[in-house]
This record gives sequence, structure tokens and C-alpha cells, in this order.
Amino acid sequence: MNIRISEIFGPTIQGEGALIGQPTVFVRTGGCDYRCLWCDTMHAVDSKYRNEWKPMSADEIFMRIEELSGGKPLMISLSGGNPAIQDLKPLIDLGHEQSYKFALETQGSIAKDWFSDLDVLTLSPKPPSSGEKTDWSVFDKCLSMAGNNPAITIKIVIMDEKDYAYAYDTYTRYPHYPIYLQPCNKGGDLNENMLWLVDKIIKDKWFNVRVLPQLHVILWGDKRGV
Ligand code: SF4
Repeated sequence: MNIRISEIFGPTIQGEGALIGQPTVFVRTGGCDYRCLWCDTMHAVDSKYRNEWKPMSADEIFMRIEELSGGKPLMISLSGGNPAIQDLKPLIDLGHEQSYKFALETQGSIAKDWFSDLDVLTLSPKPPSSGEKTDWSVFDKCLSMAGNNPAITIKIVIMDEKDYAYAYDTYTRYPHYPIYLQPCNKGGDLNENMLWLVDKIIKDKWFNVRVLPQLHVILWGDKRGV
């Protein structure tokens, strides 16, 4: 079965979350069940870009990854859109046979049994400023589908006080997973947003959280495919 692909690019470095700075090839699938107000990958979300999405088989995608990486195994970042919409198991199986690893990021709105085949799962529930609402029962299902196999982290974009409260609530629900906060890069100055967030967590003595900006935005702005 074909997978709708928005873009495949790299190797570059992962710009956010637990794998920040790590060399990776990005596989961005097309389509998302959310419409976050500050989404920075609308070209992989909005159906008006659908004609840019290419249906590719797992073999074709993996061939392209091997081409880009020169056949040298590395971490493959499965992103979107929401990559959980489509069946990525055949691609993961192919890559694993050749010693590639897979990290997937999703908002946790669709649970798939192949999450347990991943090496890294980043769940990125969307806070109030996104305009979306989290269904925690589906989020829990994502966690149970993943089981103990992938390294699981939670990452939350923060734009304002309400988002911060949402993030803290998420942390109290899931205290055993590493949690990353990322200032929203839409609206305001990134440095100021970052400093505001650092100030908040220090004042609250929230010491087991990590605050990170989007490194690729600092390096390349909103340029695509880097
Ligand atoms: S879930 Fe992610 S890809 Fe989908 S609309 Fe929100 S920010 Fe964009």
C-alpha cells in the first residue's frame, strides 16, 4: 500500500526535542487530523497541497532514504502532518533490516499497534493555543500501544500561560516520561519567549523538565527541506 509523502530530505540534524542535534533523514507524510492555528508544516496538512504529495511504496521511500544517507544507517524521523494516519510498519521493518532506526512524532490522536516497533516515540499533545483539544483516552492508548519498546518522550509547544498550565497538567498526568517544552515560534521574539519560559519553570521549581528552542529555526529560519 502506498504512503502519501509530502517530502523526504536530509541528512540534516533534528531541530527539536530529545534528539536535538542528531543527524537524521526526515520523512514527512501528508495529511493531518488537526488544524493547529500555529502549524508550521501546513504544506503537509492542508488538502490544498495534496497534489504535491507523492504516493510512494515503502520500498521507494526506503530507497530514497538510502540514497540520501549514502547507505549508512542513521535515525529516520517520521513526521508530518500526523504520520500516525498511515501504515508505516512496512517502512520501519525494511529500515530495521538494514540497521536504520526510527523516531516518530505525533500529537497522540491516533494510536497504532506498530508504535511498539519504533525506536523513539515523541508524543506532542497540542495545548489550548493550537485551537485543538486533546482526547486523553486516545493519548493513553498511544502509550499502551507503544509499550516498553520505544524511548517515549513528551513535547509541548508553549505560547502563553494557558499552554504552560496545560503542560504542567500533562506532566502531573505522566510524571514518568521525560518532558520537553518548546516556545512557540509564531508570535513574539523567540529569545524573549524562551527567557519567559525558563523564568516560569525556575520560579515553579519544575526541575525535571527540559526547555529547548527549535534549533533549525535559529539556524535556517522557516526554510523548508533543511
Ligand atoms: S498536529 Fe502538527 S502537523 Fe497537524 S496541524 Fe497540528 S502542528 Fe500541524
